[in-house]
Amino acid sequence: MTALPKSVRELLRQSGFQVGMPRIAQAFVSTDGTERYLVTCPDGETVETVWMPNGDDGELGDGSDAAADEEVKEPGAPRRASETWVSRRATICVSSQVGCAVNCQFCLTAKLGMKRNLTAGEIAGQVAAVLNRHQVRVGRDRINLVFMGMGEPFLNYDNFMAAVHLLVECMGIPESRMTVSTSGILPGIERFAKEKLRPKLALSLNAPNDGIRENIMPITRKWKIEDLLAALREVPLRPRERMTFEYVLLGGVNDSLQNARELSALLRNSGLPAKVNLIVWNPGPDIPYRMPKPEDVAAFQQHLIASGVPAFLRRPRGRDIYAACGQLKRTME
Ligand code: SAH
Ligand code: SF4
Repeated sequence: MTALPKSVRELLRQSGFQVGMPRIAQAFVSTDGTERYLVTCPDGETVETVWMPNGDDGELGDGSDAAADEEVKEPGAPRRASETWVSRRATICVSSQVGCAVNCQFCLTAKLGMKRNLTAGEIAGQVAAVLNRHQVRVGRDRINLVFMGMGEPFLNYDNFMAAVHLLVECMGIPESRMTVSTSGILPGIERFAKEKLRPKLALSLNAPNDGIRENIMPITRKWKIEDLLAALREVPLRPRERMTFEYVLLGGVNDSLQNARELSALLRNSGLPAKVNLIVWNPGPDIPYRMPKPEDVAAFQQHLIASGVPAFLRRPRGRDIYAACGQLKRTME
């Protein structure tokens, strides 16, 4: 802010404002082009931000979602040559908290516990730091943001929404290119439904009924699936937009054909234009689950599609550098 007189900058500093950019302290680069960053906050805490260049075929062209969706592909399929930043399309995965308080049993971030909320500046600053690193030309390059990094955005609601405003109004990234994922914080969804500036919304459903969901996501004890669906029905959708449901497939827990049938019925009866993003569970140390079998993943997806529920398989990105979903636990050591 060198346009301001030094005395004004000094006054700002004395008033407790911090002027500057978050710093990328470390970068891990995956063989698939994904990069994971440890971003340092002013108090020395680190959060993680992920950069995922997208292939040319990434967008579905239906305006419904971020570019990382893809129809049936083997998990871990080799990357295509188009999947580089040369295509000038990328998705940035942004953190909203240091750690997380929600305690989903399959998630590595949960193991950190909740350290603190990020400020709006720290949330938007992650994006600014990554845009600078890759010399992104906002407005010309195709950038999607997903608020799916560390933390639960709707438990840091005000700062999260303030960050969305900064990103849209000061940085020029349209909110229709942003997706926020929540584990299902009911009051957060209710507030979100009333927002004027509204990213797309994804609910981490992860189970076809409250019984299974409660075992893997204890927060279900507080808010039941039916109540979450009712709140989602109040969220206005853009033309052709669908409500996204994320579903992490855990081997032997929620990945059977019966589970797929129940999920399909649940969503078809929900009254929502729904789509499902299937995510093969990414293992982590001390997490007592196993990956689903590839044939079960395929059968699960096929059943959803055949019964009229659009279902996409999210490719794991950056598994070799612990950058895939749920693997964002700090690994400085
Ligand atoms: N807290 C928010 C956003 C961050 S988690 C939420 O839970 O929605 C982003 C996604 O990663 C969620 O859908 C979550 O279910 C999924 N996830 C968490 N741990 C995972 C793991 N080990 N493997 C695959 N997906 C995981
Ligand atoms: Fe938190 Fe999301 Fe991980 Fe659950 S899945 S512990 S809400 S980051």
